[in-house]
Order: sequence, then C-alpha cells, then structure tokens
Amino acid sequence: MKQIHKRILKEIGLKARESDLKAWAVGGFARDTLIGKNTEDIDICVEGDTSPLIKFCAEKYGADVVRFNDFATARVNLSCGLKLDFVRCRAEVYDKPGALPKVRPAGLKEDLFRRDFTANALALSIMPDEFFKEYDFFNSEEAVLKGYIKVLHDKSFLDDPTRLFRAVRFAARFNWSIETSTERLMREAVEKGYVNFISRQRAAHEFIKILAESRPYQALKCAAEYKLVDFVFTGLKLNPKINNLKTIEEKLAYLSLLQGERGFEFLDSLLLPKKDTALALETLKWRKSKAAPSKPLSKNALRIIRLYKPDIEGFKLKPLLLSAADLNELGYEGPALGAKLKALAKAQYAGKIKTRRAAFLYVKKTGF
Ligand code: ATP
Ligand code: MG
Repeated sequence: MKQIHKRILKEIGLKARESDLKAWAVGGFARDTLIGKNTEDIDICVEGDTSPLIKFCAEKYGADVVRFNDFATARVNLSCGLKLDFVRCRAEVYDKPGALPKVRPAGLKEDLFRRDFTANALALSIMPDEFFKEYDFFNSEEAVLKGYIKVLHDKSFLDDPTRLFRAVRFAARFNWSIETSTERLMREAVEKGYVNFISRQRAAHEFIKILAESRPYQALKCAAEYKLVDFVFTGLKLNPKINNLKTIEEKLAYLSLLQGERGFEFLDSLLLPKKDTALALETLKWRKSKAAPSKPLSKNALRIIRLYKPDIEGFKLKPLLLSAADLNELGYEGPALGAKLKALAKAQYAGKIKTRRAAFLYVKKTGF
C-alpha cells in the first residue's frame, strides 16, 4: 500500500479516537492486503456515527463526498486516488429471501457476520494504538491464505442469492476452491431456484460484474457448471478467447457473436442501457445483414469480428464501394436506387465485387 494512503488511514484513525469511535478497514481491502495485492477502494466500518470521519475527510483532504440514504453510508473520493466507503457497523435481518435486508446498528463482529464469505469478513483496525491489527472472528485469514470460498452460515444464499454469482466470481478471480459444504449449499440453492427471488435486473448485473473480471471465462464456466448462467441466459456459449478482451463492451460484443442466431436474444436478456450495447449491436447487425456495411465498421468491431472468426475474408468487412451519390449520378433514384445498393452490398459481401471499377461494371451489367 502506498505510504500516503497509509498516512491518511492513520489520520482517520486518530480522528476516530478523538471522536470516541472505533474504525476498521474491512472486506476486499483487508483480504487483498493479506495477499499483498494493492487496492485503493477501501470499505471503512465504524462502530458509531460515521459523520465526524466523513466531515474530517472533506475538510482535511478536500475530498468529494457522495452520501447515500442508506444507513450513514458515504463514498469519499480523495484526489490521491483513494476511494473510501464509510459504513456504520450493522446487522442485517432478511424478512424475505432476496429482498433488501432491514438493518440496525451493531458491533464489528455482527457486521462481519452479515458478509458474503469468510474471506471477505476480515477487518484491519485503523485505530492509532493497534493500526492494522487483524480482527478475525471467522477464520478469514485461513480462507484467504489457503484460498477458499466459504459462507458464514447455512442460510446465506437464501438471504441473498446474488452471493451465488459472487462465489464463482471470487473463486475464479483468485483461483480459489469452493469449500465442500458451501458447494453443497450452492447446488441446493440453484436446485430450489433461489435466484428467482432476485430480480432479473440484479441477476443480469451480477453477470456483468463477472464480465468485468480480467478472466471472465473461468468465472462464467464455473457459473455455467453450477447452472447459474441459466437464470440469465440458458445455454450460453463460451470461449476462452473472451479473456483477451479488456472492456465490458468488447466482451459483450464477442459473447453476442458467439451465441450465433441467439445473439440479439442474449443481448436483450441483460437488460442493459443502449449505450452499453452499441458495439455488440454493430457487430450483430453486420453479421445478420450478410452485406457490405454502408458505413465503415468501427476499429473495435473489426477487432471483435476477427477474434471471433480469425479466417474471415477481408472483403466481408469492407464498407460499400459505391455510395448513393454514385448511383444517383448513374441515373438511379428512389426505390430503384435503394434496391440497387442492397444488391451491390450483397454481391460485395459475397466476394463478387472487389473494386470500385468492378462495382460500376456490376451496376451497368445488371441494369435497371
Ligand atoms: P472487489 O475487489 O470486487 O471490490 P470486494 O470484496 O471489495 O471485492 P465489494 O462488492 O466491493 O467486494 O463489497 C465489499 C464488501 O462488502 C465485501 O468484501 C463483502 O464483505 C461485503 N459484501 C458485498 N456484497 C455482499 C453481499 N451480497 N452479501 C454480503 N456481503 C457483501
Ligand atoms: Mg470493493
């Protein structure tokens, strides 16, 4: 961890003591610190009111603060790159499976017990007299160092079925195993259809979080083995080449192509806003049309198509060699022009026309 980040955490810890509070860095940060991985996203759990610490960060570091209605929670963005999520220690009660829980203030131990997996339930104190002391109530250190995913209690997947997706995501990210009893609970949760307790939107969101991983193939494969993917899209086709791609948009476009005839259906199933699907739609529409595109394909689309089909002939990717204006000069208008352009686009895609000259000849030869 960067020295400046450590210094800031120490200063927040001092402020906590001054305000008669206790504070810990928890969850992903504590886990990643234990395995020597740097993260600038830190969840800070506070026993008591979070506001003195949030105010302190805003005043001392000029941090940008985004408050959430939810239970004294705020995201504090510092100019040095640190992103601090302040949360009041809480216990959660789930009235209904998959519904959002009711919360009440609690101590650290209860807060850690509400978490998804033991590996994510570790806390590092940021108090001055015990800075970075581990608070490990549930064998978290062992889970992180040996590398396994284990739920904190048997009802975990019933309380929050999104944890099923989180389990395969973390297992794949760290190349960890899923502990035997947790594996059994997962299979049972899938069999009993717990994922149906969450909205399609939330299931799709978890799927996208899997795509955001740097090795989504392993996570998706695991999710498919547990039949979790079926809740988003049945019979998803996969290919390890997806791991060569960086952005979610690229991965979506590649996966959409991979689904063949069901590409559009797959994309729809994810309920995404339009802007996130532009690249996928560009590639899908190109494939569906089986014709030279009227506008050049974007660089990204070309890259995705070539990854999907390395032996694709260059001429299938080229934009139309003649424009509407060209045909207009030859005397074409209205529907006749449209029909001619369409025929030209098909012929070009089929490899029958490779140059502008050949395109003009084709138009003349085929007549009105
Ligand atoms: P990442 O590196 O992906 O950010 P993370 O462990 O920080 O991993 P987040 O989704 O950022 O994961 O959540 C922060 C912490 O909040 C987790 O470590 C976990 O303790 C807790 N948490 C998040 N989602 C859940 C959930 N659905 N159920 C229980 N605990 C959760
Ligand atoms: Mg996180």
